[in-house]
Amino acid sequence: MRVKQSRLPDEQYDVVVVGAGFGGPVAAKKCAEAGLRTLMLERSEQVGEKVVSGLTIPFYGFLFSPDFIRDGNPPIERPVDGIINYIIKDVDAGEIDIDDSLKIPKPLSPVISFGYNAYCKPFCQWEADQAVGAGAELRTSMAAVDVIREDGVVTGIVTEDGRHIGCRVVINAEGSQGVLAVKAGVREKYPPETISLADVYDYEMPKEDVDRIFGHTLRFCWGWDEQMVAPPLGYGNGLMVWPYNSSLHFMHWENNSFDKLSTEA
Ligand SMILES: Cc1cc2nc3c(=O)[nH]c(=O)nc-3n(C[C@H](O)[C@H](O)[C@H](O)COP(=O)(O)OP(=O)(O)OC[C@H]3O[C@@H](n4cnc5c(N)ncnc54)[C@H](O)[C@@H]3O)c2cc1C
Repeated sequence: MRVKQSRLPDEQYDVVVVGAGFGGPVAAKKCAEAGLRTLMLERSEQVGEKVVSGLTIPFYGFLFSPDFIRDGNPPIERPVDGIINYIIKDVDAGEIDIDDSLKIPKPLSPVISFGYNAYCKPFCQWEADQAVGAGAELRTSMAAVDVIREDGVVTGIVTEDGRHIGCRVVINAEGSQGVLAVKAGVREKYPPETISLADVYDYEMPKEDVDRIFGHTLRFCWGWDEQMVAPPLGYGNGLMVWPYNSSLHFMHWENNSFDKLSTEA
């Protein structure tokens, strides 16, 4: 169902940014700096909660990022000097190909960086603080559930508590699983076979141990589905390890797992 504007909006902004993950606050900051009355909506209780995973921000991502990120000292955990890929050929025979060609050799590493490991939550919160500092308004625990359309044009959004917020522009920064693009007729809902499942685990570890055992290198282990290289859930063709400042982050990756789960169900 698409909401047609049949009543005056409860509030009016120039711009409503939906989502305060990595992208939303950057857009909100730019709009606020341009003098536009900007509202940022985030459905989670706290900014950055959705992508609980940490991540590596590639060096070029930093290089070409907005200057407030590049020069602003955002919360980073550890520079990365590359990835070592372990490709499992035969589990029973213990055959593994190890490819470390993506690693910057010492003594250049980690002075020359491949990227930066960061936790999403503090990073996104830091970005949102910058947007709020520039004059954008942030509302957390508030989801947009629909768009308002007038003569085929999106003129605002509807929040989960039923408020109609009018605006000149809606910036959809909901991430990959958002609903508004579908509601606005921009794209279809993604079919299950295009979706993968990744579960993440975070372990505290003394910094000296992270330094000694993992250093600054990401380690990715790959196999086929049936090799089940990524316990504990059994399935999985990828296990990735990110070293942080004094913790380790594991991600277990399953290709097309939603499709698989729904087929089994
Ligand atoms: C497990 C995992 C590991 C990853 N690792 C890496 C990596 O190492 N390097 C890398 O570059 N990228 C990585 N990514 C990808 C990266 O996280 C995404 O590209 C990035 O988060 C996209 O930013 P975004 O702002 O578009 O969306 P998101 O960061 O997903 O933010 C969307 C925000 O919108 C909110 N939201 C959604 N719908 C609504 C709504 N209707 N109303 C209000 N709020 C809403 C969500 O709660 C969320 O906070 C990884 C992703 C995952 C899931």
